Amino acid sequence: MGLCEILTAREELGRRLAMAQAPIFMIEDVDTATQHAATAIAEMAMREISPTPGNFCVWYNYISGSVPELRRDLDALLLSGKTVSASNIQDLFDKYFREPDAEERLQQTGDELQNTLADVIRQVTQAGLDANEFGKTLTKANSSLGAGRIDAGAMKDLVGELIAATKLIGQRNQALEAQLKQSSTRITGLQSRLEAARRDALTDALTGIGNRKSFDLAVQFRAQQATEQQSELCLLIIDIDHFKKFNDSFGHRVGDQVLKLVGSKLKQAINGSDSAARYGGEEFALLMPQTRIPEAVDRADKFRTSLGAHSLKNRTTGQVYGAVTVSIGVSRYKAGEPLEEFIVRADQALYRAKKEGRNRVIAEAS
Ligand code: GH3
Ligand code: MG
Ligand code: MG
Repeated sequence: MGLCEILTAREELGRRLAMAQAPIFMIEDVDTATQHAATAIAEMAMREISPTPGNFCVWYNYISGSVPELRRDLDALLLSGKTVSASNIQDLFDKYFREPDAEERLQQTGDELQNTLADVIRQVTQAGLDANEFGKTLTKANSSLGAGRIDAGAMKDLVGELIAATKLIGQRNQALEAQLKQSSTRITGLQSRLEAARRDALTDALTGIGNRKSFDLAVQFRAQQATEQQSELCLLIIDIDHFKKFNDSFGHRVGDQVLKLVGSKLKQAINGSDSAARYGGEEFALLMPQTRIPEAVDRADKFRTSLGAHSLKNRTTGQVYGAVTVSIGVSRYKAGEPLEEFIVRADQALYRAKKEGRNRVIAEAS
């Protein structure tokens, strides 16, 4: 894929994203919108396509004609005489309305970066070939001169040839310099996009700390390191006590606030080499390299008491939600053991902490 094609592909992606947002929230008057919606539903019913949100989105936009490319694609399908299936509609939805997720963005940016680098290599290789040609012209000139007897006419030709070759390589080098400059600007831009996409792919959107994937990577890396360096490694699994009651009594929004609070307190509690992550719904994990069990338990307990010390309340209304307490299970990595066993022991300790009354820290049975 050349630079031009990359740019075209990128424009295409930008165009699709722009389209993805526009038609879904398109402003139409109520009568027109109702008419389009009714036609869309009737058309779908006729073809036995369920009116799910995704299918509806495709048909509505087809009927309203807000996305000409979609209309063209679906028209082609309808005119082909084949039965339009739910999976055809799903493909159209993916093509025109689905935004790529963090993983996909990461993949796309990585591919673009790789293509741009391939381009640079191609440009530099071409420059090498040009320089080679120039070298040959010089060698030829040199050997002609070295052969002695050279008449004025031949000398003139030779000089002309040399001037032309020098000019050409000068021009080529200027073009190459401009191309390389452009590529390097692109690479810098792509690098920061890659970094942002990588961060997104490893971050939990709600709490801003690492997500499950970042935990999986961290535990692999740290366990290997602990095995190789024969160093200590502890794992905390932290579970919010009676979290459901925050959701049930005050709504999901308050539940989310509680999760954010625990995430930010966890961020404050970590040391340099610790990794904190949201492990699952209302469970968090904290990896502590170079830490022995007693110290891990001690730090876990400090985190637990500091979190539970304050009653949570709504700043605007003054409504009191109560204290957020957590139960914590702690395990210690045994050099070389499968990661699952390390995690299961922390889970079992957490289970005991719950069973013994919650709001406490329990370490694995030694
Ligand atoms: P326990 O003390 O035994 O841990 O009780 P619990 O209520 O904390 O545990 P349970 O597993 O019964 O409930 C967990 C709840 O967490 C259920 C689920 O709806 C909720 N939950 C999971 N993820 C989220 C989220 O992202 N936001 C909100 N608001 N709630 C979530
Ligand atoms: Mg839980
Ligand atoms: Mg819980």
